[in-house]
Amino acid sequence: MSNAFRYACSDCEGMEACRASVIAETREEVWELIKLHARIAHGESEADWDTATRTYLDTLIKPVMI
Ligand SMILES: [Zn+2]
Repeated sequence: MSNAFRYACSDCEGMEACRASVIAETREEVWELIKLHARIAHGESEADWDTATRTYLDTLIKPVMI
């Protein structure tokens, strides 16, 4: 049973040192927060992410119970 979704940036390959994680009620909201975090903390734009990257990131969004 889960009631939220979580993304921990350190789960992402190459981002092990990053301390950020985001939790929100929906997967869609987590995605918006990931994009914001990527821009603020890593200077990345979601526009540069290819389909493989998006698919990979999506697998890192886990259902959680909080
Ligand atoms: Zn990060």
